[in-house]
Amino acid sequence: MQPHIYSQQQHNIPQERIDSDALFVIDRLQKAGHIAYLVGGGVRDLLMGLYPKDFDISTSAKPEEVRRLFSNSLLIGRRFRLAHIRFGKKTFEVSTFRAGDTAEDSLILRDNIWGVPEEDVLRRDFTINGLFYDPQYKQVIDYVGGMQDIQHHFLRTIGDANIRFKQDPVRMIRLLKFRARFGFAIDERTWQALLDNYLEITKSSPARVVEELLRMLESGHSLSFFTLLEQTKMLAILMQTFDEECKNIGNKELLSYLHIVDHFHKQHINEKLDRTVLLAALIFPIIEKKLERISFEDVSFTTILKTAESILNPLFHQSFVQFTKRQRFLVEFILIMQQRFDLTLKTSKIRPRLLSHPEKNIALQMLFLRSHNHELLRPLYTQWKEASRGEPHPI
Ligand code: ATP
Ligand code: MG
Repeated sequence: MQPHIYSQQQHNIPQERIDSDALFVIDRLQKAGHIAYLVGGGVRDLLMGLYPKDFDISTSAKPEEVRRLFSNSLLIGRRFRLAHIRFGKKTFEVSTFRAGDTAEDSLILRDNIWGVPEEDVLRRDFTINGLFYDPQYKQVIDYVGGMQDIQHHFLRTIGDANIRFKQDPVRMIRLLKFRARFGFAIDERTWQALLDNYLEITKSSPARVVEELLRMLESGHSLSFFTLLEQTKMLAILMQTFDEECKNIGNKELLSYLHIVDHFHKQHINEKLDRTVLLAALIFPIIEKKLERISFEDVSFTTILKTAESILNPLFHQSFVQFTKRQRFLVEFILIMQQRFDLTLKTSKIRPRLLSHPEKNIALQMLFLRSHNHELLRPLYTQWKEASRGEPHPI
């Protein structure tokens, strides 16, 4: 199939937004006789006028050949073998063009059959993520109609959505992620395929699902993402107890902290709240509801501990998504610390010893979120923030 080629005048990608080290990698691969392009989310973001957070590169060079060309590279992955090239703190993913998914509707387990550029994009998830950019000729290379879909704000799978979701159910979560992030309309067949296949999500790796959920909590669009998860019944599959609470409490109230979390991430592009704080923010409205309070100065330490455990146990042990033991420990710590902070409302006394805990910053981040949800708690946060002065700023 002939791709549609878009010239600089047609696509308007500002070349200066492309990381110079990524351009260097592509240039070196091309000079060594290989085909090499930018691909995926980076090209999509450039076309949407955004600043890409990563620049992935696709090439005809085999992983070992990439390894030999770059002394700063490392080969990773078994299921999906690719090279990482490091420049200081930055890492670029360089993957070899892969052939299409062989098994039509079964899970993909191995994915190391090399192919040509066209095959490589046909195995990607959505048309908007299936574009190449060739910096040498400043051309966008489009085999999948992705350029038009970006222009029309439209989300659709590459190929038959039913098959693509069965092959890799994480794609359904990714669909909701792009819907939440960009507000694009979803193609009717793609949407119907999600509604028909949502139960398949349990066949995917919990670690990959958790990673997508955590990334969404950091994205500035977590509220609409979790609302979509709830509406499509995926939340009930992924985090059953949490979904039940959603029904009890009402999702507007349950997701109230996500609004603040999103506001924070939109305002602070380069800062992220700690992932354990984001998990605590999901759970906090349930605690407030159970204890019927927004501050806990009158609640005993044991009560808050028991309440926290009654929510955390099912969430951490009976859910499809699996969080780590350390995450569980820290979420509990964050919740307990809130009761300690709140005692100041009664005693007016700051206990500096509380601030000597190595993880106190994450507890302060939670207090920051609470103070934005409940104006009443603003002075409390200010007081504790000032008491921690000289320490690294909590947020
Ligand atoms: P983000 O901005 O969140 O990083 P992204 O689209 O770049 O979004 P990545 O996880 O970085 O997402 O993946 C990079 C590219 O790899 C995607 O743009 C897409 O082309 C391809 N891809 C990622 N996940 C899948 C998948 N599950 N199935 C098929 N292709 C995928
Ligand atoms: Mg990406």
